[in-house]
Amino acid sequence: MSPTKHVYFFGGGKADGDATMKNLLGGKGANLAEMGKLGIPVPPGFTITTEVCTYYYANKRKYPAELDGQVKTSIAQMNKLMGVTFDDPKNPLLVSVRSGARTSMPGMMETVLNVGLTSKTIPGLIAKTQNERFVWDAYRRLIMMYADVVMEKAAGIEPAPHEGIRELLEEEMHRVKVARGVKMDTDLTAADLKTLCESFKKIIKKQLKKEFPDDAYEQMWGGIHAVFASWMGKRAVAYRKIEGIPEEWGTAVNVQAMVFGNMGDTSATGVAFTRNPATGENLFFGEWLPNAQGEDVVAGIRTPLPLNVSTKTEDQKAVKSLEEAMPALYKQLNGIQLKLESHYRDMQDIEFTIQEGKLYMLQTRVGKRNGTAAIRMAVEMASKKEKGYQITIEEAIGRVKPDQLDELLHPMCDPIAEKKAKFLAKGLPAGPGGATGAIVFSADDAEAWGKKGKKVILVRNETSPEDVHGMRAAQAILTAKGGMTSHAALVARGWGKCCIVGCSSLDINARTKTLNVNGVTLKEGDLITMNGSKGTIYLGDVKMLPADPDNNKWYKTLMTWVDKTRKLNVRTNAESPEDAAQAIAFGAEGIGLARTEHMFFDPKRIGFVRQMIVSDSVEERTKALANLLPFQREDFIGIFQAMAGKAVTIRLLDPPLHEFIGDLPAKEIDELAKKLGVTPEKIKARIAQLHELNPMLGHRGCRLGVAYPEITEMQARAIFEAAAELTKKKVKVLPEVMVPLVGTVKEFENQEAIIRKVAAEVMKAAGVKFKYMVGTMIEIPRAALVANKIAEKAEFFSFGTNDLTQMTFGYSRDDIGGFLPAYLDGKILPADPFQTIDQEGVGQLIQIGIERGRSSRPELKVGICGEHGGDATTVKFCHRVGMNYVSCSPFRVPIARLAAAHAVLEEKAAAACCKSSCKTKAAKPAAKKAAAKPAAKKAVAKKAAKK
Ligand code: PEP
Ligand code: MG
Repeated sequence: MSPTKHVYFFGGGKADGDATMKNLLGGKGANLAEMGKLGIPVPPGFTITTEVCTYYYANKRKYPAELDGQVKTSIAQMNKLMGVTFDDPKNPLLVSVRSGARTSMPGMMETVLNVGLTSKTIPGLIAKTQNERFVWDAYRRLIMMYADVVMEKAAGIEPAPHEGIRELLEEEMHRVKVARGVKMDTDLTAADLKTLCESFKKIIKKQLKKEFPDDAYEQMWGGIHAVFASWMGKRAVAYRKIEGIPEEWGTAVNVQAMVFGNMGDTSATGVAFTRNPATGENLFFGEWLPNAQGEDVVAGIRTPLPLNVSTKTEDQKAVKSLEEAMPALYKQLNGIQLKLESHYRDMQDIEFTIQEGKLYMLQTRVGKRNGTAAIRMAVEMASKKEKGYQITIEEAIGRVKPDQLDELLHPMCDPIAEKKAKFLAKGLPAGPGGATGAIVFSADDAEAWGKKGKKVILVRNETSPEDVHGMRAAQAILTAKGGMTSHAALVARGWGKCCIVGCSSLDINARTKTLNVNGVTLKEGDLITMNGSKGTIYLGDVKMLPADPDNNKWYKTLMTWVDKTRKLNVRTNAESPEDAAQAIAFGAEGIGLARTEHMFFDPKRIGFVRQMIVSDSVEERTKALANLLPFQREDFIGIFQAMAGKAVTIRLLDPPLHEFIGDLPAKEIDELAKKLGVTPEKIKARIAQLHELNPMLGHRGCRLGVAYPEITEMQARAIFEAAAELTKKKVKVLPEVMVPLVGTVKEFENQEAIIRKVAAEVMKAAGVKFKYMVGTMIEIPRAALVANKIAEKAEFFSFGTNDLTQMTFGYSRDDIGGFLPAYLDGKILPADPFQTIDQEGVGQLIQIGIERGRSSRPELKVGICGEHGGDATTVKFCHRVGMNYVSCSPFRVPIARLAAAHAVLEEKAAAACCKSSCKTKAAKPAAKKAAAKPAAKKAVAKKAAKK
């Protein structure tokens, strides 16, 4: 048996792997192999598989026995192709060691460059390059990176603040620059750098109690170990959690021949996108730096230059683009970007280096993009053939993630208010939309303030992966340094956050938590506003305009395709005409839940509600309800009008009554007592009587209507009188009255009788007829189990998955915060079940409810109105189990529409996959048997439901 292959080589126009092997080789490794095969100039190298990462963690951080030999063979191949030899004193090859997971995790894991520089190889490289400064600069970079990544982080050392080895080495470099009277790193001479390397090594010895390794192989294995170790590093773990990347995936390691962009004026390095990742515009877009190494572009140390003339901004008119500085190389690069995009049929994010006039591609991957860009690119790629390829409409729909639509729905700065606002500064527009917030200067502060419900803007010189938690918590991110491909810009774009980078007029002092900008001094907590689409920053709070996706032609086209594809209807949860109108603008096809109690909190009404609650006689309660009736009627008239004949599901009063009373202050108790003509003591006694230990399971839902039928009667009257009035005016209405928290059919029958009696009375009195329905929520597990009985009476079901989740798990929906983090950390729960439906448990009850409900009423209309209705994964589940609609908050309506279309595409893909695998199995009788199984199961379920 041949030994397991742990190492995959690429280079010289050949590769062991290809782009399909992302799981094994990681994204970077698989794409390097693919580029190599396409004949694109790639420095040779090899990838150590993600399986080795798994082995490493399963075997106390040891490697498989065959690895060493396979690595040595690959190094020999690299040596041959490059014509230089690793660890050779005369003509040494240097390598980079980089991470590469299945999906890109920008900056979350480690990289070590210039590996192989030792006292043995340095003289040879100097002799060969005749560039002493370059060699010592490469060495000081290696020492800095290696000490930080391998000797400190991978060793698990957690230094005290400002004691980290990287910071100490940077301080030393700063000291040398000051002593030499120079500003830039590039001003240091070869001799300066040589001495600096010596002092670096002394600092390392003192601080980390270890010598910097002077052996090329030790350095390489140290780098490999650091990459694997960084998979479990704090940053990577935090990022994986946010992005939902499974820990089991592991990372691959790429060891590749070094090429240098910092070998003088004919060398350069850059990062580019085949289309603009912020706007989606079909223009080759990127940044470059002459005489620099890749880290200089992304780390934001020097502000990079535009790649070409067509993408220069006003401020960049004077600087030279790569197109102007090195036209022939730009032409070659442009040819490669066209080839890569058409090969991968998607926008690519590429990295390149030019070493002494020769171009090398270091990376290609599908580029991250914000929502606006994702939509424009998908629609344009599907609309016509560009760059030699065209995607299908279905592919275009699949290219936009439901959450990306969210960005388009974000508020923007009001242009009129913006003109009047005090302008502070301008930077690069890295993430669109507007945001206002209090400034904070550290990621920890951003997180802490965010937890307190404060809106903050994180202001930093530049961000690093250590800041991700604070970036996540902030409304927006603002940096003084870096370009459009800096860490801050990449991360913000991935999340669709408002972000401005490279705002060089910011003078930030993170220690004193102050910011000086164009003569204005701001301190922590001061408010600023950012327009991330333009890159402008203003003092104070600037008015925001709601999102206006309808002015985006690509969005409109996409949504037309989406609506033609999806099967599920999408409704909204709304209880005001304004919300209803907003939801319709976002494409809602009806109201799936109008919570009537939300209409009761208005100051004009709450007094009557309280009177109703504390009344202890039917007469008193009826009197208070009579005062509420006209308000409710007006509410329904407004909503019916806004919905113009679309279905409106109105839920009868649901919450425990104490929610309206709470801890009433003595003054309000006195006023209430006066209004009712009773003593304050009597009110207090009634409140005490209403107190419930577990109100969520107490006197709420239909239990209120059963105990106090006059409440149901008033609400039904308000609904039907509104319907009658509009019907008379020839306005179409379609009310669906929904009874909450039903657990037995008798409860439903009790309430239905009242509703239908009132409907008949109102129609008779008004002399009009209109259609209406009476249905129920399914939010108690028992209701799902006896759904066949309930559906004999109820005309529709709406799954109230907030309560259904609460009661199925036995977790109080209000108190889950106390233990959820521990449950998620400990992997006891895969996700918050109040956000994404628990398909295994709650989902089973939903399926049972639908199956049994339709067994007695096949045409039963079924929807969902819990918070899950706006969650993309849940929407797909709802499609699969055969619901008619989902209902969610107005801003999530477009997301639900897109998710519903994705559900159809996924179903088609699964069917196609099944068809092809069935074909191969067709000859086997066992397959036929298995196929017959679901039908048999269904018959049993039907039988059970009928019982
Ligand atoms: C539900 O329980 O899912 C629901 C929609 O009702 P509420 O959240 O108002 O209890
Ligand atoms: Mg509920």
